[in-house]
Amino acid sequence: MVDLKGQYSGIKNVVNPAIQEVIETTTFINGPKVHEFQKNLENYLGVKHVIPCANGTDALQIAMMGLGLKPGDEVITADFTFAATVEVIALLQLTPVLVDVNSDDFNINIEAIKKAITPKTKAIVPVHLFGQCANMEAIMEIAEAHNLFVIEDNAQAIGATYTYKNGKKAQAGTMGHVASTSFFPSKNLGCYGDGGAIFTNDDELAHTIRGIVNHGMYERYHHDVVGVNSRLDSIQAVVLDAKLPHLDTYNKARRDAAHKYNEAFKNVEKITTPYQNGGSDSHVYHQYTLKLEGVDRDGLVKFLNSHDIPCGVYYPIPLHKQKAYQDLRYNEADFTVTNQLVKQVISLPMHTELDDEQIDFITSKVLEFVNG
Ligand SMILES: *Cc1c(COP(=O)(O)O)cnc(C)c1O
Repeated sequence: MVDLKGQYSGIKNVVNPAIQEVIETTTFINGPKVHEFQKNLENYLGVKHVIPCANGTDALQIAMMGLGLKPGDEVITADFTFAATVEVIALLQLTPVLVDVNSDDFNINIEAIKKAITPKTKAIVPVHLFGQCANMEAIMEIAEAHNLFVIEDNAQAIGATYTYKNGKKAQAGTMGHVASTSFFPSKNLGCYGDGGAIFTNDDELAHTIRGIVNHGMYERYHHDVVGVNSRLDSIQAVVLDAKLPHLDTYNKARRDAAHKYNEAFKNVEKITTPYQNGGSDSHVYHQYTLKLEGVDRDGLVKFLNSHDIPCGVYYPIPLHKQKAYQDLRYNEADFTVTNQLVKQVISLPMHTELDDEQIDFITSKVLEFVNG
């Protein structure tokens, strides 16, 4: 699905000596390289605070801890996403409230959010799925009206741009009260191990979170709150710092590949290509996900695999149907879109190194099966 080796060859001459330097200077943890990357990412995003941590799941959990959410508080999030989002809500003994998504951009549905709000609701977690932002303007309006926190799960959309109705633009992950991201190797900005970060423009929240990631310490050996141990190590930081200057180019390569896929599928009735909910810079194609109509999706997966074409189904089971998150309050009628999408979607290979020959081969095989 991704070609990390090809991407590495382009930055090897920067990454290798930088890793070597970390080893030579033995500044493995909390070294100056982590701070440098933090500053560079703050500049790139135009956000006041980036707090690096160990992975994207931790980032979500720490963001929720930082906001002071308490057991029993209800947190609204999307039914059609990766489990990490709902997992940390449950781990903190908050009450996850799953809601349906849009059938076009796969992001959390605004009317469904409104319907799910109760006096116990404390936060909304929009997941910017597959590389483009949820409707942040509407979400922030709802949040303001009901006094709720908004935590953007930006694991899949780093570098995407959101455009407000008045034309103003903002980077994904800088619009809510706080945001989380993941630097898992296959993400748009990925390291060579695990990594993550929290973003916020709120000075006080940033201070609280910096303590939480470090055992609740604000002064050495004074533990003021219950914290965690969640760090980005220096080796990962230098990898990320080598990649960050290329992030826009990487995202453009993904967009170019997406446009070529779109072109190949444009007149095929049974295939719906990804919907773009804003201008050309709005989508960074973490995944290139098609919706199929009247096609044996699982048969297509097998057919592509038999031709050595990797593909993925993100996500095959709605979260509300997962054993761990079943809840008697849920009503199937509230999840018509997600229940449909899990049967329709298929994601094709998407990365920075896809060439025309690969795209032609992949699209020809998809068309061969679909046109049967
Ligand atoms: C990858 C991902 C995460 C978790 O990130 P990790 O670094 O693997 O913990 C969380 N949310 C979404 C939407 C993701 O895609």
